[in-house]
Amino acid sequence: MSISYASEKMKDTNSKMEKQMKNLTEQQKHILFEKGTEAPFTGEYVHTKDKGMYKCAYCGNALFSSDTKFDSGTGWPSFTEPANLKNIELKEDKSLFMTRTEVLCKKCGGHLGHVFDDGPNGKQRYCINSCSLKLHKEENKNDKKNR
Ligand SMILES: [Zn+2]
Repeated sequence: MSISYASEKMKDTNSKMEKQMKNLTEQQKHILFEKGTEAPFTGEYVHTKDKGMYKCAYCGNALFSSDTKFDSGTGWPSFTEPANLKNIELKEDKSLFMTRTEVLCKKCGGHLGHVFDDGPNGKQRYCINSCSLKLHKEENKNDKKNR
């Protein structure tokens, strides 16, 4: 009995995941699940300064706050720290003959980018693909309605 219950539950999760998968572009799928990298300066959020929360493009996990975003000049959205360390996973990545630290979404395992130690003021630099993110803008109620 417990087995059939588990597989029913699994089916639900799978169909929900499939639906979310349909909302992703081919490039997003490639980056999130095949550890791809978007070309620098091509991403949607490279120069974005809007306030809000950057969430996982796939599962909606809250990943980075706009408050920690800075212009690193590298061509990828860069953040000094994650919104919550519990929402990300760090993993040693030895591909391309380098040792880097890969940043993954803890909830869905999607690949986000890499983290480096050369951020501003001794902070870290989370170098993240725009494709892995979806910005949920902060509602600003005082936003100059009468302009
Ligand atoms: Zn995710």
